[in-house]
Amino acid sequence: MELSEARKELYKDSRMEALFDLFSAKEKVKPKFDLSNGYTYPDLDKIMPENAGENREQILEKMVSAKVLDKELYDLELRCPKCKNPDVATRYLCPFCESMKIVKNHLVEHINCGQTSTVSSLHEKSRFDSCPICNKKYSEGGYRIVGKWFECSTCGKQIKNPLITHFCRNCDNKFLFDDVIQREIYSYSLNNTAKDEIETGVLFPSDIKKILTDAGCSIMVSNVIKGKSEIEHKFDYVFSDKKKTMAIDTIFSAEPIQEIEIIKEQNKFYDTGIEIYVIVTPKLSEQASMIAKASKLKIVETSNKKDALLGLRKLMLKHT
Ligand SMILES: [Zn+2]
Ligand SMILES: [Zn+2]
Ligand SMILES: [Zn+2]
Repeated sequence: MELSEARKELYKDSRMEALFDLFSAKEKVKPKFDLSNGYTYPDLDKIMPENAGENREQILEKMVSAKVLDKELYDLELRCPKCKNPDVATRYLCPFCESMKIVKNHLVEHINCGQTSTVSSLHEKSRFDSCPICNKKYSEGGYRIVGKWFECSTCGKQIKNPLITHFCRNCDNKFLFDDVIQREIYSYSLNNTAKDEIETGVLFPSDIKKILTDAGCSIMVSNVIKGKSEIEHKFDYVFSDKKKTMAIDTIFSAEPIQEIEIIKEQNKFYDTGIEIYVIVTPKLSEQASMIAKASKLKIVETSNKKDALLGLRKLMLKHT
């Protein structure tokens, strides 16, 4: 399926409409973290509740691959391998004795006499106010830090790279990054192409539905009609005014719409024999326009969404 076709399929999904409303209010949909549930999407929960039949992650993935949405890695969620709880702490340990008591130490040089001392040794003697050699005060600007490192206050060893481990606050399990359950967490935003398409050409199901209901028509459950040739033709909407069955197809494209699209509609018309409304945005190519005019299709051709809906409404009112 072409990318634009994949998007078109999604635009007909009523959840997409709710998503678009959400993305116009918020540029980015970000996950929220809490210690009992881990990462969740409260914004999405309101409009796309996760249910047994459909996996929300799959729907979002489908939207990303059709370039309706863009995703960006937001964080890596870590969970305990034993109890699956997200309340996981990171611990930096001494690589020699695995003690948690790692302290930062500094080497300071007393500018007055040139003597260097470690800050921790000075603290031990509780005299980081005056120099142990010249006894003068370490007044501001009178000393400089010439080195920084970590050391273990249990075994006293100097540490270059602490050992990184995890601790589960729920079940007290201690584990390494190797064993952690990790999940990539994304933030989502509307893709720019999709945004343009939605603003100019996409007619959402609720827009169409409203016009049809106002005209006293009802949308059929199935959007497929079998033609004389036994071929099943799929339409965007199949509807009825209780007397006869009719159909709507919407075509939009950034490029002028080619004659092949209109010929396809014409073939559907000849085979099914039903009235077909074709809404095209923003415009037909010259060739396509000529074919459309000579056909028995009911064409609404407008440069924007608003006029397209108005055009359809007018046609429907004329009809009923
Ligand atoms: Zn645990
Ligand atoms: Zn000194
Ligand atoms: Zn140690």
